[in-house]
Amino acid sequence: EDQSFPECQAQELFDEFVSASTCRAAMRSFSQLCEHLQLDPSTAERPLYRPIKRRLNYWRANGLWAKLDRRGAQEEYQRARACSDVTCVIIGAGPCGLRTAVELSFMGARVVLLEKRDTFSRNNVLHLWPFTIHDLRGLGAKKFYGRFCAGSIDHISIRQLQLVLLKVALLLGVEVHVNVEFKKLVEPAEDQHRHKLGWRMEVSPKNHPVSQLEFDVIIGADGRRNTLPGFRRKEFRGKLAIAITANFKNRNTTAEAKVEEISGVAFIFNQRFFQELRQETGIDLENIVYYKDDTHYFVMTAKKQSLLEKGVILQDFADTELLLSRGNVDQNALQAYAREAADFSTNHQLPTLDFAMNHYGQPDVAMFDFTCMYASENAAMVRQRHGHQLLVTLVGDSLLEPFWPMGTGVARGFLAALDSAWMIRSWAQGAAPLDVLAERESLYRLLPQTTPENMQKNITLYSVDPTTRYMNTSPLTVTPAQVRHLVDTGEEAGLTTDCSDIIRLPSPRYIRQESFSQSNQLLTWCQEQTCGYHGVNVTDLTTSWRSGLALCALIHRHRPDLIDFDSLDKSSVEENTRLGFDVAEREFGISPLMTVEEMSSVEEPDSLSMVMYLSQFYQLLKDSPP
Ligand code: FAD
Repeated sequence: EDQSFPECQAQELFDEFVSASTCRAAMRSFSQLCEHLQLDPSTAERPLYRPIKRRLNYWRANGLWAKLDRRGAQEEYQRARACSDVTCVIIGAGPCGLRTAVELSFMGARVVLLEKRDTFSRNNVLHLWPFTIHDLRGLGAKKFYGRFCAGSIDHISIRQLQLVLLKVALLLGVEVHVNVEFKKLVEPAEDQHRHKLGWRMEVSPKNHPVSQLEFDVIIGADGRRNTLPGFRRKEFRGKLAIAITANFKNRNTTAEAKVEEISGVAFIFNQRFFQELRQETGIDLENIVYYKDDTHYFVMTAKKQSLLEKGVILQDFADTELLLSRGNVDQNALQAYAREAADFSTNHQLPTLDFAMNHYGQPDVAMFDFTCMYASENAAMVRQRHGHQLLVTLVGDSLLEPFWPMGTGVARGFLAALDSAWMIRSWAQGAAPLDVLAERESLYRLLPQTTPENMQKNITLYSVDPTTRYMNTSPLTVTPAQVRHLVDTGEEAGLTTDCSDIIRLPSPRYIRQESFSQSNQLLTWCQEQTCGYHGVNVTDLTTSWRSGLALCALIHRHRPDLIDFDSLDKSSVEENTRLGFDVAEREFGISPLMTVEEMSSVEEPDSLSMVMYLSQFYQLLKDSPP
């Protein structure tokens, strides 16, 4: 009897942990469970669930252990030894930081994750590609969240996704510190006893023990406003794009269950719907998506003029920050606008449209500016001081911001998480820094054009190894010589080095990114679509598009009614480009990612922007017969 009592308690704690519905509750029950089992996650065997499994002995946990065992057996993890000498810090417990943490733990790395909050509160919903659903199922998502992707559901609220991944991460032994904010990197130095210290960080609260930690890798997963220095940000400035998200309470009634979801792409072609909406309500949208999840979630792109006319935006400003600033938005009018759009687009079938509450206890509706989107120019870099190397990398929104209404969701975020883990694995196994960086940058160039259709078909084989996921990984499009500028030895800062084993590298040099044109499907597709058009010869994804004719041809191939191609004049470069931009935006919902002048200038247009722009056509039109 006496002996069974503590066992019972451990089982209760385990159940509490599995069903915890908040970040705080999950953290609390997990630390109690570990304490109870006398396990210290920072020193215990990794992955941590193995010693837990041995000590807990609980039939209800068996299904979960079986899942984790199966995943942990992937060859690339080398039985949790692939990265066993590496200490990694991850900034941010968003879905991508957590997903990266999980992968690194399976490889045996010590992973320390900082999160400045202790709540997961975003109701908004992320679209999941088939591979992400498969991936999450394999990590036991359904054990933690019974409704995970039931039936044909292919989305999840951000907070539920974080909660699932947090639990997996904790079970694998990730040391999670909530209410701890990363401030900055601290360079290696000697302490007063002449001990050499490696790379560390400054955090808030200042005296938190994690500030003593020395680490080899740091991963920025802190969302769109990334705090790690050294990464140049690319800006994609399109036309004004104002997104509205709204969450309504889902009471799970039969009436609600019957209402059909709206996938954005299906609606882009339905111009009549948007016309009727405008005529009947004065609401003018470019697109709308509706997912039925824990809440009824809507995301839409609204035209500024209609927001002004409906009194949502009070005063017109050219500066979007000012335009959407708190004082310039009438919250009640915004609620009414979102509710009316939701009601109309679901054919008035949702019985009640009561707002769900957000983190602040307010109706959950918000406007976001997507006029400017960011992507980091590079995915990783190496810093070296006093012989200590630090691998620095970005994942998730810090790396490449998604355009929410396009529904790419978190898939590219997960791909980058896996790619970063793969890089850290190569690094841990002693590959040369320049080779590691060259491979990472090559993969990063594939990321903006990925779609479920152009990835490897067999998603059950996906692993941390990029060749299981991407079609064309070789040859590398970025060479080691092209990533020299991504190694920062501090020479410019005038630091002297006291180690003989330091690699001497030429001073940092900015190397222009090559075009993406080699070896990719996108180019082939564009060539097929534009072939035979007079004055059009697509040989790349940049300069071939300068005259605007190729863009007009691409549109004409699919919708000859939209452009009178034969009337176009090759020399009217800017007019052609503007026409293409406008038609694509109006008819397909594809916003330009650069100005007319940038695309038609004699200099090469920005290759990353071009790929992102053309990928949207590909995604939308690839299955429709020309
Ligand atoms: P995030 O999910 O942004 O997570 C970053 C984490 O880092 C946060 O938890 C943050 O608290 C933490 N953090 C930041 N700085 C520090 C620091 N210095 N130290 C420690 N921790 C730090 N996408 C959609 O597709 N549709 C939507 O409707 C949608 N709505 C959104 C609403 C909001 C309010 C936000 C912020 C994002 C929304 N997104 C939406 C984007 C979506 O959440 C992300 O694409 C997705 O979560 C993947 O992001 P991530 O993991 O890279 O970063």
